[in-house]
Amino acid sequence: MTRASGQSRGLSPTDRDWLSRRFDKNTFFDEPLDKFTSLGVGGPAMVLLQVSDLAGLRDIIQWTGERDFPYFLLGKGTNLIVRDGGIQGIVIRLMGEFRSIEAHKDGTGHTSIQAGAGAMLARLCSFAVKNGLDGLSFATGIPGTVGGAIVMNAGTREGCVADAIQEVRIMNTHGKDMSLTSREISWSYRTMTHNLPSEPGRAAIITGGRFLTRPGNPEILQNKANEHLQRRKATQPHGVRSAGSFFKNPPEGMSAGELIDKAGLKGKAIGGAMVSPVHGNWIVNTGKATASQILSLMDLIRQEVLNMHGISLEPEVKIVGT
Ligand SMILES: Cc1cc2nc3c(=O)[nH]c(=O)nc-3n(C[C@H](O)[C@H](O)[C@H](O)COP(=O)(O)OP(=O)(O)OC[C@H]3O[C@@H](n4cnc5c(N)ncnc54)[C@H](O)[C@@H]3O)c2cc1C
Repeated sequence: MTRASGQSRGLSPTDRDWLSRRFDKNTFFDEPLDKFTSLGVGGPAMVLLQVSDLAGLRDIIQWTGERDFPYFLLGKGTNLIVRDGGIQGIVIRLMGEFRSIEAHKDGTGHTSIQAGAGAMLARLCSFAVKNGLDGLSFATGIPGTVGGAIVMNAGTREGCVADAIQEVRIMNTHGKDMSLTSREISWSYRTMTHNLPSEPGRAAIITGGRFLTRPGNPEILQNKANEHLQRRKATQPHGVRSAGSFFKNPPEGMSAGELIDKAGLKGKAIGGAMVSPVHGNWIVNTGKATASQILSLMDLIRQEVLNMHGISLEPEVKIVGT
């Protein structure tokens, strides 16, 4: 990453000075975001901040609140399209203490795993396997962070985050650190909502989660994880830039992939954006796609599926920026 001296629109020299002093070498002005998304597209962030602890997170939330700057929480960018104009706000990545993973035994003998939102979900899964803790195998092979997985209620046919999570740690838009039990959250297919207030450009930030586990045998758990990975390899495109499944499956009937396949769209391309010939619900970047090419292909798919099947597909990926 380059620490540019960029003339960020919207930031005064005093603002830039404060950010650089507060976050030091973790402050990046006009930072291109394509390298932070699995699709490899997206313009620059006005500022990208790598925040390592709760005090830093609280400071930036309060600072942006006083100045009415929007902020955006970037996970691993595996379910994300940043538009080509980038993000005119503060983009936050959680590092340092937000990447910790620890097991805790409670008084009743149950073990839970506390994971920071910035930790990789893959690390959480292998931690569980190594420590003989069952309950998270559904998540094997899902890329991204623990925070992204919680926000997306990530999952597979085997289960989803909502099945395993007990408590979510969250910072509200005033910088207050709190926790919500899983019951205080409304979980549904690839989404979750809670009652904490949010405004455009300012939403509560997930800082971690506690997952309940059952005792398991590490060898059996490892075999199960290997099976999940093999199944993915056999059914999904690999070695390509994508965001996984692009559209949500409709509540009933054919899956999004089947609808797209039946509309004859596999292999359809706009510029460097292409419907994967392997899986109809994956849009891949074949090399030099732009976000706008991916979004044009998305519109075309939605229109064709609507014309042919009368079904309006809803994107699963999050689309942000200008
Ligand atoms: C090859 C591939 C396979 C995939 N397979 C699956 C699968 O099987 N099942 C599945 O469910 N998904 C799958 N996905 C999609 C993606 O991996 C998940 O949605 C993942 O949970 C996103 O995590 P992330 O850290 O990359 O989030 P990002 O893409 O960075 O962000 C997604 C959204 O979450 C928000 N967010 C992220 N972290 C936080 C936080 N700490 N606080 C508040 N908001 C936050 C972002 O602002 C954004 O709105 C796949 C993706 C790829 C590329």
